[in-house]
Amino acid sequence: MNLMNDEKHYNTIHNYYLQKYQKKVYKIPLNGGFTCPNIDGTVASGGCTFCSYMGSGDFAGNKHEPLKTQFDTIKKMMEKKWRDGLYIAYFQANTNTHAPLKRLKELFEEAITLDPKIVMISIATRPDVLPDDVIEYLSDLNRRMPVQIELGLQTIHQETSDLINRAHDLKCFDDAVKRLREKNIEVVVHIINGLPHETKEMMIETIKHVNTLDIQGIKIHMLHLMEKTKMGYQYKQDPWPLLSLEDYTDIVTDQILWLRKDIIIHRITGDAPSDMLIAPLWTKKKFVVMNEIDKRLRKLNLYQGDYHEKSHL
Ligand code: SF4
Repeated sequence: MNLMNDEKHYNTIHNYYLQKYQKKVYKIPLNGGFTCPNIDGTVASGGCTFCSYMGSGDFAGNKHEPLKTQFDTIKKMMEKKWRDGLYIAYFQANTNTHAPLKRLKELFEEAITLDPKIVMISIATRPDVLPDDVIEYLSDLNRRMPVQIELGLQTIHQETSDLINRAHDLKCFDDAVKRLREKNIEVVVHIINGLPHETKEMMIETIKHVNTLDIQGIKIHMLHLMEKTKMGYQYKQDPWPLLSLEDYTDIVTDQILWLRKDIIIHRITGDAPSDMLIAPLWTKKKFVVMNEIDKRLRKLNLYQGDYHEKSHL
């Protein structure tokens, strides 16, 4: 599937879904009321220092409402923009496999029947919360409805991982990808640029490592410092230099050039609720960030994976 063109020099998820389904496909965030083992003490406590009290699901539905109500509310809003779309039931907030298998089955089985236009279920989780019985069940579900697992990595560097309290190591992540892929389950990796003390080279190394794994997609985020997070508090006490828009454009452009050509890019920047964002404020302008990256790739006349392929000649 060739998704790149003169305008877009990388594989966008928009173009991927359009080619696959001939329609706009959008994610409907659902909140299954999960917690996170890195917050509740199961694995560690305190959580990742950048994580908001919404468990990195700041746009997720209201966990006190039934899934159907959550789905219909967001679907109605989305339909104002795209009348004839298809949907992905998306469990985003917190760690969406952190519950007994019986509960996971109840939630996921209900989710896939919420609407006949649902074409996929996407589940965000940590690599250390995928026991064999859960993977076995996801594999069974995947035969009935495509399952996509969004797996948090953020960085391959252990010193950064310790600093932000991820509470798992790289081996755990690599193992989780391998076990999911043995069952043919799609994997989308999350990484964050601009974490404290990381250099451009370190961020490129994260890309080079994920290239070695059988992943199908990636979400690249800029670090957001948000109110009511540990890192936001640390920053307010003792601010440190953050990436500028120019730095970020330069880094992401190079990451795209290093990224394998078959990987689909789901995001090249993220957005935090503006009332919670402390810095960097340029991240509010998502379209400006995307345009700057497009412009730079076009100026270089290079495409996703060009550096990666050259290094393998
Ligand atoms: S694993 Fe995810 S939900 Fe849990 S603290 Fe970290 S970012 Fe938040």
